[in-house]
Order: sequence, then structure tokens, then C-alpha cells
Amino acid sequence: MVKEKAVVLQNNGIFLISVMSYERREMLMKTAAEYIQSLRDMKPRKIYVMGELVDNPVDHPLIRPSINCCAMTYKLAELPEYEDLMTATSSLTGNKINRFCHLHQSTEDLMNKVKMQRLVGNMTGACFQRCVGMDALNAMFSTTFEMDQKSGTNYHQKFKDYLLKWEENDWTVDGAMTDPKGNRAAGPANQVDPDLFVHIVEKNEDGIVVKGAKMHQTGALNSHEILVMPTQTMRPEDADYAVAFAVAADDPSIIYIYGRQSCDTRKMEATNIDVGNVNYGGQEAIIIFDNTFIPWERVFMCGEIEFTGMLVERFAGYHRQSYGGCKVGNGDVLIGATAAIADYNGASKASHVKDKIIEMTHLNETLYSSGIACSAEGRKTAAGNYLIDMMLANVCKQNVTRLPYEIARIAQDIAGGLVVTMPSDADFKSSEVGEWCTKLMAGDPKYSTEERQRMLRLIESMTMGSIAVGYLTESMHGAGSPQAQRIMISRLGNLEAKKAMARRICGVDPDDLL
Ligand code: SF4
Ligand code: FE
Repeated sequence: MVKEKAVVLQNNGIFLISVMSYERREMLMKTAAEYIQSLRDMKPRKIYVMGELVDNPVDHPLIRPSINCCAMTYKLAELPEYEDLMTATSSLTGNKINRFCHLHQSTEDLMNKVKMQRLVGNMTGACFQRCVGMDALNAMFSTTFEMDQKSGTNYHQKFKDYLLKWEENDWTVDGAMTDPKGNRAAGPANQVDPDLFVHIVEKNEDGIVVKGAKMHQTGALNSHEILVMPTQTMRPEDADYAVAFAVAADDPSIIYIYGRQSCDTRKMEATNIDVGNVNYGGQEAIIIFDNTFIPWERVFMCGEIEFTGMLVERFAGYHRQSYGGCKVGNGDVLIGATAAIADYNGASKASHVKDKIIEMTHLNETLYSSGIACSAEGRKTAAGNYLIDMMLANVCKQNVTRLPYEIARIAQDIAGGLVVTMPSDADFKSSEVGEWCTKLMAGDPKYSTEERQRMLRLIESMTMGSIAVGYLTESMHGAGSPQAQRIMISRLGNLEAKKAMARRICGVDPDDLL
């Protein structure tokens, strides 16, 4: 069947919107519609949203935009134009799979991952959630291999068996790392309440029973599976907390509590204009494991404290790379919205406006540069998949904790005060004051007032509304807060080697190359 559709083409690193015809191809992977149906097919879950138990998350107005967003990772993989970015050849089976399920096999794969994330960020303008599973699978694959080599365990084969099912079912998997952590001055074993870190409460011949919770879980309700990892490097007394496992997201023991987002109830209003990003959004939830049973074949770490640091660093490293793609993709949308509102305001020819948009672009491409750089400098692990350069991935994420805020500041500067004072869409539609709203909110007459209204709401949502959760606060804290990257940068900075360079150059040390 031939269809016509607006698509995004990559041109010299810039993604351009174009209208193309394409043939719908049959693929083994899930379509977006099949993905959404697979969420409907899950067993009933205990999902709490604003104090209420929700039995149909798929059609809930607060949740649905985040499902549409994750579904985009399936939709784009259906389209031949994106085949190179969105799909890959499985290193386990040779099958064509969605890249979100892929073990990176080269530095090119690592770069394609970042480009794919930029593309999906362009198409959604929000957090599409599926990357945490991809990052967890790559970290878990190499860590279980090295764990087995050192400890004589058999986690790697079990993880490979699990991964085969992951690829076959084209799962979205929630890579779950962050524990509540309680009193930060005390470690896991020293908390007043042991449930502040996920821990093993029982071991028997069939498996383990775990209790605790994971916080801030991106895409939790939109995932088929949850892949749990320890939250930090564990000490000998924390052995019960050094646990990694996979569990079906509809396991009856699990409780979900949905996170609030700024302006979220606008999604429940009759009109969607005030939401800004009308169809897409991110999602975070708390996942509670209330005595969850995990069979041994789904346990991938159980007390190996010496490998907790490796797993945490690798997962965080991959996810810090990810931000050099997704946040750049979102940044493209915000730059576009800013340039458009300048047009609508009749201000786009002002030299300072042009210069500010150049500055936004420069900052956004700086983020992309480090996402690509840490990928290009990646290396093969002992298990065979590729790992990013850790220093450059941490530099990437450290930049992401800062530059989107400056990009957002400039967007608000150019948008003007209406971004926070504009009446509601209900007023625009009011029989009494609607005409006044339309008349007073007019800009350049080439554009309708509604176009201006919509674009201002998009800028509002990305810089302070529900999308700012993903574009700003998640840029700060996702994949580790800024200080976590600074610790890694300090550890990897190799100051002694740099001091030796300086000593030789200034003559403190002899120069044996002369
Ligand atoms: Fe993916 Fe970015 Fe969302 Fe993380 S924040 S899940 S990398 S889109
Ligand atoms: Fe994230």
C-alpha cells in the first residue's frame, strides 16, 4: 500500500521535514499498533494515578501521550526511510530487530544509536522512554560476562537466553536503577527501613524474593518487562542489595504510583491546545516490589558486590551518551518553535533574534558533538558488544545538565511574556471574550492567532510545563545528577599524566625526546 506522510530526513546532521511516499513493508518487529495492543493485553496491574487505582492505563488521558511517544520507536521502525537508524541485525540470531533491542556491535552502531535518539526526539518533542532498557541490556551483557569469568557464575548465558526473548517479542524494557536511598549519609545496610533499597528477603531452590522500590522510573507503565539493577557500588555488608533481575511488568506483586508533572491535568481538559505538545509526553512512576518472586533463570546478580560498580558505571555511561541524542532531538523542536514564534511575532528579521537562534543551535549541536564523540571513541568489551568512551559520555551528560537551560532561557526571551500570561483556550473559544482574545493576541497577519497560541503553548510546555520534566529536570538528574558525572570526570581525568606533561615541557623533568 502506498501512503503519503510527513517524514523527517537526515541531511548533514540536520533532520528535515519532508513529504514522501512509501511502501509499507512487512517486518518481524511489532508495529506501533501491535505495541499498543500488547499493553492492553497485559494482566491487570495495580496502577495508582492521583490517588486512584486505574484499570485502563492505555486510554487514560494523563498516560496516553507517553504511550504514543514510546510507540514512535515502533512506528519509525516500520518505515523504510529509517531502516538504517531504527533497525539492526541481531548479533545473536541474525534477524532484523529494532535498534532499541540491539547489542551495539561497532562504533558505527553506537553513533547510529545517538542519531536514532535524535530522530525520535524530533518526532515526539518529548522523552520516548525506551532507551533505558537498551542501555541496561548493553551494560548487563558485558558485566555478566566479566562476572562469570571472575566468579565462575552462569549469569551471562541466562541473560543471553532472556535477551533472545526480548528481541523476539520486541519488548520495551524498563531499566530500573534508582532506589529511594533514604538517609544519604547511611548505606543500604544501615538504613532504619531496609526497603529504601531493593534487597533480597529470601532465597530458596526456585529463586529469590525481593522487596523495595525503584524511583523516577521512565516509561514504567509502558514497558513489558522491568530489568532491575543495583543503584550504587555496594559494600560487603550490602550483599543482599547487590541484586539484578528481570520481572514481567504485570507481575501481580508490583505496585505502580504515577508521578505528577507540571501542568499535567491540562491533558484532561476538553481542548488540547493548552497542553502545548498535544500528542506526546514522558512518564515517570515509582515501582514497588512487594515481596516479588524471581526464578533463578531471571536472576543476573545475587550478592556479587564487586561487580555492582561496573554495572552502575556502564549503564550510567550508556545513558549519559543517550542524552546527546534525545535531548538534542527535543532541542531541535524547541529551536524550531522559537524561530516560528519569531515569525509569528513579526520579529524574525531583528538581528538580535537571529543571533539568539544561532546561539541556541550552537549549544544544541555542542551536545550532539559529545554524544557522537563518546560513540566514535567507543571500544569492544570482553563480551563482544561495544561500550562508549566513559570520559566523553560523562562530559556529554555534564553539558546536558546545563545547555538545555540556556536554550530554554533564550526560547522564553524570544517568545515574550505571553508565554506565561496568555488566556486559556476556553477563553479563546468563549462566546463572550473569544473575539477579544483573537483580536488582541494577533501578531504578523500572515499567521492566524491560533498558530501563535499553539506555538507559545509548545514553548511553555517545553520550558516549564509537562515536557520540561524531560527537557530540563531530567537533563539535570536523569542518568545521574551533575555531581555523579564530576566524580567520574575526576576519576578519569588522569591528572598525574597531565602534571608529567607540564613538568617535561617546563624543564622540571628531563625531555628525553630532544
Ligand atoms: Fe530516552 Fe532520553 Fe527519555 Fe532517557 S531521557 S529514556 S535517553 S528519551
Ligand atoms: Fe532519562
